[in-house]
Amino acid sequence: MLHNTEQYVVGIDLGGTKIAAALFNSKGEILGRERMETANARTAKEVVQRMIEMIRSVARGLPLSGVGLASPGAVNSKDGIVLHGTNLPEWEQVPLKKWMGEALGVDVQVVNDANAAAWGEYVRGAGKGSENMVYVTFSTGIGAGIVLDGKLLLGSTSFAGELGHNIIQPDGPACSCGNRGCWEVFASGTAIRDAALAFMQSKSSAIAELAAAYGEPVSAKHVFEAYKQADEVAVQVVDRAVHYMALGLANAVHTFNPDRIVVGGGVSKAGDQLFPALREQTDKLVMKPYRGTFEIVPAGLQDDVGLIGAAALFHQS
Ligand SMILES: [Zn+2]
Repeated sequence: MLHNTEQYVVGIDLGGTKIAAALFNSKGEILGRERMETANARTAKEVVQRMIEMIRSVARGLPLSGVGLASPGAVNSKDGIVLHGTNLPEWEQVPLKKWMGEALGVDVQVVNDANAAAWGEYVRGAGKGSENMVYVTFSTGIGAGIVLDGKLLLGSTSFAGELGHNIIQPDGPACSCGNRGCWEVFASGTAIRDAALAFMQSKSSAIAELAAAYGEPVSAKHVFEAYKQADEVAVQVVDRAVHYMALGLANAVHTFNPDRIVVGGGVSKAGDQLFPALREQTDKLVMKPYRGTFEIVPAGLQDDVGLIGAAALFHQS
């Protein structure tokens, strides 16, 4: 009889409202899933206890070679501590690696969710085969993660890759981080929505009708839909957003010299409309030697990207 040499890993995506866990084999295939709402769990200890139960349940007694965890907020990956969890108010200095490692008897790795997503795209998604990859997700804010020479760039305190807070206009609008004119104030999904709302004060637009038809507040999604219909406001807003997105990507090209830029998040779902313009504008903004040295592609993984990336911390091939 053959020995079972399969390496099983559990990936966890810890979110503000839900926790998703999945069991992976070494090919990165998902063998089982668990999901839990975080609304009723009050303290970090309670949430951790429930995550431990989820891991035991999803692993079904199989021997685990590790647990990879993607967490929002500031994470010390070296020691596996969540320093401060965005959307998780009680999460300050939570030693996840220690608590979970002791309870489960396995190695636990913790990374920031944007870094997990970047690693997921690199190992299993649209970054596959690249050597130097920049991952950027345009959603409520801008998240980013960098892979250089096949390694996830964490930096000395695991805060590397906060491209969304690169200051691109010092006298620009205030950002949630306390500075002014950060990239995400101009190019995130929130920025797109806000620009649309501002334009719509003086001009009627299909954006409002689309949002009303869905029974939803105006968001970047409606802006991109209206853009497809050549709505005047939407065209202005998207052109402006693409300009700013390209500006930040050009900065990333100059900083990291990637061969591939993977773009994720709600905004990237605009697909065909967005990418040709984004490529063209980024190419214009980078210095000559960089032109033609990188490609800009949409993300390949969907909602599971955090889980997949966290689990892939243990499966690097
Ligand atoms: Zn900022």
